[in-house]
Amino acid sequence: MSLLDKFATQRTLHSRLAESSRVAPIATPMDVIHSATSATIDGRLVILAGTNNYLGLTYDAECRAAAIAAIETMGTGTTGSRMASGNYAGHRALEQELASAFGWPSCIVFSTGYQANLGAVSALAGEGDFLLIDADSHACIHDGCRLSNATTIRFRHNDPENLERRLARLGEDASRALIVVESLYSTLGDRAPLREIVEIKRRYGAWLLVDEAHSFGVFGQNGLGLCESLGLLDEVDFIVGTFSKSLGGVGGFCLGRHAEAEMLRMVSRPYIFTASPPPSVIAATHQALRRVLQGQDLRNRLWRHADHLYSEVARLGYRLGTTTPAPVAALVFDSREEAQALWQSLLDAGIYTNLMIPPATPAGVSLVRISLSAAHSDEDISHVVAALAAHMRRTRPLAAA
Ligand code: PMP
Repeated sequence: MSLLDKFATQRTLHSRLAESSRVAPIATPMDVIHSATSATIDGRLVILAGTNNYLGLTYDAECRAAAIAAIETMGTGTTGSRMASGNYAGHRALEQELASAFGWPSCIVFSTGYQANLGAVSALAGEGDFLLIDADSHACIHDGCRLSNATTIRFRHNDPENLERRLARLGEDASRALIVVESLYSTLGDRAPLREIVEIKRRYGAWLLVDEAHSFGVFGQNGLGLCESLGLLDEVDFIVGTFSKSLGGVGGFCLGRHAEAEMLRMVSRPYIFTASPPPSVIAATHQALRRVLQGQDLRNRLWRHADHLYSEVARLGYRLGTTTPAPVAALVFDSREEAQALWQSLLDAGIYTNLMIPPATPAGVSLVRISLSAAHSDEDISHVVAALAAHMRRTRPLAAA
């Protein structure tokens, strides 16, 4: 077998997907973007219902103005790492504002959310330590484990009993264990049982890192995430987040409830060995953060859309990844063909969503993920529901009757 033979499986899957649809369902080319919720795909205007733009801030007038002003005054990029020439006042100010919003002593900004998890997980747990991670964790958490020299132990998805059994086996070493979970899992839209996990971590003297990538901006009085909304900010040790979803930019952060977390800057390779985010991104993100902190109006809109979509989708007879409403709704199917047929129907109706198939999905399911935004209008959501109803009538007329 030669070097490139290993790509044969991907090539077959790629051509099967390409042949079965006029527009590629994976890495779909967006020709022109018009707003947070609309784009032109394959020459046609579509509603974007497959982004992570939960609050619609990519087109917020003040965020855009801040980015433009930063480019005019500070240029397009930093051309250096935070450890060298890329440590601008804006990076430090954003870190301070995030830390003070949480009332925690440490916040470190990374160049992406991927790097924030990679950098935090790999630097917090080293030789002789333990990482207990949810089996359905995002790739960057798995990759952080690979980069660290700690022993990685996976526990069953959202199963606190399974976590406890594994932690109990560590005995005294539980104090060297870092539990890593996401608060909202974006593939199925389900939430981690954070209260139970916190109770277990406290009992065993372990540490807890929560990735709030999909929940920052979305949950909590101040939009700080699920930990805030459950009143757990005094219990969790580290929170990782991203600028690329509710904040509408690109970048990531790791917040620490302990001052020692600041030392990650000195040892975290994904922080040290890469260029820092450009001033425009930092300026727009800082403005977006102010909007998030004052964003109850946007959150109310988003949750109104989520409640409405979940109840309609269930009424139509679709199988949902979870029954508790979330800003993402996963419509789950046993076969890739069924999921792809729905994805295509929605696109034909002028709605872009995400098709997700194995191996990128848990338990081998195929699904269509609909992501909501506060920037969606009520008409957008009604259009999505009507297209879902029409597809159900065409494919399962009895269920839709
Ligand atoms: N964590 C989770 C749970 C994610 O879903 C993602 C992105 N999909 C990331 C981290 C990485 O974020 P970013 O896009 O900022 O690299």
